[in-house]
Amino acid sequence: DDEGFSGLVIHMAIVGIEWKEEGDHVVATVGAGESWDDLVATAVAKNYSGIENLSSIPGTVGASAVQNIGAYGVEARELITMVEAYDAKNNILKILTNEECVFGYRESVFKTNQDLVVTQVQFRLEKEYVPKQAYKDIALYIEENGVVTLSLQEMRQAVMAIRAKKFPDLSQCGTAGSFFKNPIVSKGVGEKFLAQYPDAPHYDAENGKTKLSAAWIIDHVLEMKGVREGSVGTWSAQALVVVNYDDATSAQVKKFVKKISDASFEKIHITLEPEVVFVVT
Ligand SMILES: Cc1cc2nc3c(=O)[nH]c(=O)nc-3n(C[C@H](O)[C@H](O)[C@H](O)COP(=O)(O)OP(=O)(O)OC[C@H]3O[C@@H](n4cnc5c(N)ncnc54)[C@H](O)[C@@H]3O)c2cc1C
Repeated sequence: DDEGFSGLVIHMAIVGIEWKEEGDHVVATVGAGESWDDLVATAVAKNYSGIENLSSIPGTVGASAVQNIGAYGVEARELITMVEAYDAKNNILKILTNEECVFGYRESVFKTNQDLVVTQVQFRLEKEYVPKQAYKDIALYIEENGVVTLSLQEMRQAVMAIRAKKFPDLSQCGTAGSFFKNPIVSKGVGEKFLAQYPDAPHYDAENGKTKLSAAWIIDHVLEMKGVREGSVGTWSAQALVVVNYDDATSAQVKKFVKKISDASFEKIHITLEPEVVFVVT
């Protein structure tokens, strides 16, 4: 926050990618400090697939496991087979299977147990490319560009082009990307919401629950897309993205996002939870 952070900050700089072909797939063992998008670019250049829909997500490979990053119908947990982590409390190096990572929507054991520092992540990628192009934005891109099937390389280009239109240029203004998680609500709450807003996008989630679009809620229910208060605002091309136009303080950002979550709760009784992690001392 604005007071700064009084504690140890570790900059993960373990790099290196090892590729091992095994029958119909390839295992990539990657240092946690590698750039995520460099990994995606290299995999696509090598014709290894599975990861291409996750193009252009800023950050490191280690954080991809922490956050279980996801986009355009793919989540990191679908590809991760193993995570190596340093257990700072017990001073041991641990190997965690996919199951032991307890992945959920933007969740993992690494978020609940902050003594674990991810040092290496192993991914299974496929030699045979199966395009995942059902996601709305990709389907729209295909329609607009008059193609039927995107090749592996074209899929990466498509995702990059879609994202370039949606997200601000990080050299111009600051953002942590999507600020809120898409709410996952009980079937009953989902049905009640959809009766009121029949056009709202919704998806089946785990345990019979319904996943709603936080961006749609901010845009269509709260009408707060592209709203700016001082130096903070929601991005005009994507309501879920909160931006710091110049010198907003942490307190101003927190006040602005609280206004959004309070408005959501008041209007539709649905809580918008932050996806971003707040660093506090
Ligand atoms: C423009 C923009 C677009 C984005 N789009 C997406 C998107 O489409 N999908 C998506 O899922 N995310 C998205 N994000 C969010 C972000 O890119 C991811 O969360 C990414 O994984 C963050 O990586 P990082 O290395 O910057 O991690 P940080 O933000 O530095 O850290 C994230 C959290 O993980 C912890 N952490 C980081 N590395 C380690 C490690 N090695 N071991 C243990 N803990 C660790 C940190 O302590 C922190 O709690 C976007 C962000 C931006 C700015």
